[in-house]
Amino acid sequence: MEVKQYVEQIQKELVKKDPNQEEFLQAVEEFLPTVIPFLEEHPEYAEKNILGMILEPERLIQFRVPWQDDKGNWQVNRGYRVQFNSAIGPYKGGLRFHPSVNLSILKFLGFEQIFKNSLTGLPIGGGKGGSDFDPKGKSDAEIMRYCQSFMTELAKHIGPNLDVPAGDIGVGGREIGYLFGQYKRLREYDMGVLTGKPLGFNGSLIRTEATGYGAVYFVKHLLEDRKDSFEGKKVIVSGSGNVAIYAIEKAQALGATALTCSDSNGYIYDKNGIDVELLKEIKEVRRARLTEYAKESPTAEYHEGSVWELETAADIALPCATQNEINDEKAEILVKNGVKVVAEGANMPSTMEAIKLYHENGVLYGPGKAANAGGVAVSALEMSQNSQRLAWTAEEVDSKLDDIMKNIYETCRDTAEKYANKDNFAAGANIAGFAKVAAAMLAQGT
Ligand code: GLU
Repeated sequence: MEVKQYVEQIQKELVKKDPNQEEFLQAVEEFLPTVIPFLEEHPEYAEKNILGMILEPERLIQFRVPWQDDKGNWQVNRGYRVQFNSAIGPYKGGLRFHPSVNLSILKFLGFEQIFKNSLTGLPIGGGKGGSDFDPKGKSDAEIMRYCQSFMTELAKHIGPNLDVPAGDIGVGGREIGYLFGQYKRLREYDMGVLTGKPLGFNGSLIRTEATGYGAVYFVKHLLEDRKDSFEGKKVIVSGSGNVAIYAIEKAQALGATALTCSDSNGYIYDKNGIDVELLKEIKEVRRARLTEYAKESPTAEYHEGSVWELETAADIALPCATQNEINDEKAEILVKNGVKVVAEGANMPSTMEAIKLYHENGVLYGPGKAANAGGVAVSALEMSQNSQRLAWTAEEVDSKLDDIMKNIYETCRDTAEKYANKDNFAAGANIAGFAKVAAAMLAQGT
């Protein structure tokens, strides 16, 4: 059978099996066509049906999470862990707490995580998990009880050589602390079981900053390759979690102006640049909404709606909020605004139609699995430090992160040039990420 036919058949079968898993199918649909030229060069992967294998998670865990709210009511949520692929290392990936969480979203995230983790060059497999629990408006005590109940079940399925969760949307240092505390109560002091731990108990310096810094480093290397830099560039950023905050911080440190940040209700626009210290105070200390930022900043404007509807001249876009935040209409606005580079701090923030528009308009596109790999890369560095019983300095971790992002950029560039079109970093990321995992699966006799 022709490779192209084989790939089409795999996709058809998957749609038949999982017709309602929209996000997962979207991630797969974006991935499959890009690996055809690579499979044509390596027919053994098609013969052994490695593609069919890699689309099927090795293990799916779903569990009940009962917890008591502050009023004494008993609530119940769903917990999940998707252990997608362990060919090149223990499952690794974040936990997301958000009301939208379902199996389709976690399978898309876990699937992308396989290739992202492979691109880092570090020994980590792909996984993802989380819950449909909504942390918004919950008290600290409720968050603690929720994390404890969640870990009471999850502990049975994780371990430093098995599966190492970390944070994602709705799960930061505080939640990782509560999750770790419960794991320790149930098992032992095994610091390698979670990453993104607070610094006081064996977390890594720069882990909080890593995803945002990494996305900016990815763009920095892309620009350097074109004898250009962040100096004087205008940047549109979405989101106001740790990815957005530290992308803004690093972009501004490199001489750019970050014009915006956003939350689920609206966005801040400041032509003088976001005040990152104020943003940190509002989001990290007060855990408040961006409307508070607007009240305290003399130059900021607050607008309701999506930041991607803002019409203003800009050079670079860094979507750092969530999946599918940029559709074709919003991508068109970006092109009209003059944006020349889109690098994804979030996972799958651009729809397929938006990506098509970037490519048609010569916008350089860094897909999430490459551009936001800095977070999980520093998680892997946290695992290294934990197993050595050592802590590296911020400078050491930061310089390793920069090297990893340079390597990822160059790998995407070179792989794209070999198998697809020049500058098709999405194809480059998919093929390079897949190649390593597929070779390991074949060699292990899966
Ligand atoms: N949630 C992050 C991601 O999407 C980080 C995962 C980790 O550090 O394990 O890659």
